[in-house]
Amino acid sequence: VYLDSAESLRTSELVSWIQLAGHQGNVRLSEGGEVLKRFCEVEDICLQALMSDALCQFVPHYFGHISQDGERYIRLEDLLSGLKNPVIMDCKMGVRTYQEEEIIKARSNASVRSDMYQKMVKVDSAAPTAEEHAQKGVTKLHYLQWRDDSSSTSSLGFRIEGIVVRNMRLKTCSSQIHQNILNLSLCVSQEAYESRLQALNEALKESSFFNRHELIGSSLLFVHDCSSKANIWMIDFGKTIPTPEDVRLRHDVPWVEGNREDGYLIGLTSLITLLGEAIKQ
Ligand code: ATP
Ligand code: MG
Ligand code: MG
Repeated sequence: VYLDSAESLRTSELVSWIQLAGHQGNVRLSEGGEVLKRFCEVEDICLQALMSDALCQFVPHYFGHISQDGERYIRLEDLLSGLKNPVIMDCKMGVRTYQEEEIIKARSNASVRSDMYQKMVKVDSAAPTAEEHAQKGVTKLHYLQWRDDSSSTSSLGFRIEGIVVRNMRLKTCSSQIHQNILNLSLCVSQEAYESRLQALNEALKESSFFNRHELIGSSLLFVHDCSSKANIWMIDFGKTIPTPEDVRLRHDVPWVEGNREDGYLIGLTSLITLLGEAIKQ
């Protein structure tokens, strides 16, 4: 784990509520103590369905939506409510973080993106091809695939988007995943996290929602503080879409283009294994 000092938050007083990942401002706390997330129909439909699914114990309570200042929001239970200086980790699940439709679109668009080139070279200056360096731009297709292949997404089926500990935001590299999970577990009962993951694994088997959806870009949010029990929640369903009638996903086999598999259970198994190894040490 390394600390991005530019992003570190200065004092605990400054931060009462933390949005860990995603576009800043997409998610915020309302005065009434609910989390408001910018409205997205795909996500709204998922949350409605999840409220009466076997997974409802693993999803923040959904209170419908509201309009404020001309903007629509989804209303959610605040998962940080009652926690003092919480430790939070956002794990993006699955072996890919883009929909098959996105690659089809990206492939037919040969234009290069300079914003994606900048993001890429910032992490790894050797990642763009010689041609891309010359153009100072990369194709969106290359960027999407690189982001998953250079992180642990493709190999482990999850990646850590960010961790907040004592109001400091930690950024992660894929090689440090193991250490991150160890660190996260330092001041908390690792068994609590592990049993929650096992319970989730069981609930997923019972879930008709999971049986009928492709979960892309969805996260598990790990939260704990010194006093309360550790908990894990499923969040972020903006790219979670129903599978076609004739498709039954297994969620535990590799993705090849066309099979629509998300690898959600590959990621969950990796997490359970890594936590189990951390407990033994
Ligand atoms: P992405 O860029 O990954 O698609 P997004 O804009 O769809 O992100 P989310 O991933 O849903 O947004 O949420 C971003 C962050 O906000 C999470 O990492 C978490 O820190 C915080 N968050 C979201 N929902 C809740 C909630 N119900 N309670 C507490 N924190 C939340
Ligand atoms: Mg997210
Ligand atoms: Mg999202």
